[in-house]
Amino acid sequence: MNLEKLYETLDQLYDEMVDSRRHLHMHPELSFEEVETPKYVANYHQLLGHDVRTEVGGRGVVAKLVGGKPGPTIALRADFDALPIQELTDVPFKSKVDGVMHACGHDGHTAELLVLAKALNSLQDELEGTVVFIHQHAEEYQPGGAIAMIEDGCLEGVDVIFGTHLQAVRPYGEVSYRVGPTMAAADRFHITIKGKGGHGAQPHLSKDSIVVGAQLVTNLQQVVSRRVSPIEAAVVSVGNFVAKNAFNVIADTAQLDGTVRTFKEDVRDLVEKEMERVVKGTCQSADVDYEFSYLRGYPSLVNHKEETEFVASILGEVPGVEEVTESPLQMAGEDFSYYLQHVKGSFFYTGARNPEWEEAYPHHHPKFDLDERGMLVAAKCLGKVVVEYAKKEVKEAVN
Ligand code: MN
Repeated sequence: MNLEKLYETLDQLYDEMVDSRRHLHMHPELSFEEVETPKYVANYHQLLGHDVRTEVGGRGVVAKLVGGKPGPTIALRADFDALPIQELTDVPFKSKVDGVMHACGHDGHTAELLVLAKALNSLQDELEGTVVFIHQHAEEYQPGGAIAMIEDGCLEGVDVIFGTHLQAVRPYGEVSYRVGPTMAAADRFHITIKGKGGHGAQPHLSKDSIVVGAQLVTNLQQVVSRRVSPIEAAVVSVGNFVAKNAFNVIADTAQLDGTVRTFKEDVRDLVEKEMERVVKGTCQSADVDYEFSYLRGYPSLVNHKEETEFVASILGEVPGVEEVTESPLQMAGEDFSYYLQHVKGSFFYTGARNPEWEEAYPHHHPKFDLDERGMLVAAKCLGKVVVEYAKKEVKEAVN
């Protein structure tokens, strides 16, 4: 396929991309509650004549474009859910739904993938292989939509998968990749300390859950500093410690909640096991009962080496891309990780911070916004990845 023609078509469709993003932005829907968004997405693909499956894994939509020439089956994924945030921007296309906002750029992901589908469709005869467009619901809320969509067959016949996340904190013109572990596994824990309440003047007749809780907050720090290898990355943070009482009362119970972030499964297993031991030991030594639960979230996102190096090697030539950088590890989580456990592929970042903005609000902030030109760059990058990957595979098959 002639890439220049693909870029030109995307340029011509840029206004449509912006309109589409703004439409979605005005009508955001929460994870697992998406109704109109999947309808909108399915309708767009149906009008293009694509083979469309709806209600995949719940609310997901999968569309397929079969090229005029043989080649690999390449999946591209965009998520489409919004967040429970009250929008505080002044943009003319502000959310029309109270308390719900596209504050992570998933509106942009959806618009860029739809318009890329249209552009590829217009060049269908020249397209080598098949493109599977995976429009995923519920990325923001665990257990997430990816796992259910995979179980419902969205990766059937797929050879490789690619995706990108727009980043409002990364400058427009920059794209960023990383080989191997890239985004963290995000887990939660909950600890209830069950002591024995009493009079503040008679500590010997009670079991002080605040003292035990304070010890636990400190002892849990040993898990990362003394148990995990210093070469590995891990975070254990207690984000909540509640034991509310009067000044002269010894607390009966205390509640501790927190988050754990890791990049490797063995480190994740180790942290969970060691935390359990620390909680048990600390509570036993103080003779108090406890409840401990450790809830696993999305696994770490691990990019495949060959596919990521391929992406990194070609993105520099995409119009609009000024810089290709290696991303540092990110402690945020992403359920794209599940797709990469089933098929090879890569997930990269596309910059969408307007250079003229004095301040760029982070993702999940009520004033979050995108430089919409980032969407066009993202669509061109994904388009180039599809075309070049197919070309490479067809060539390798011949050789
Ligand atoms: Mn996101």
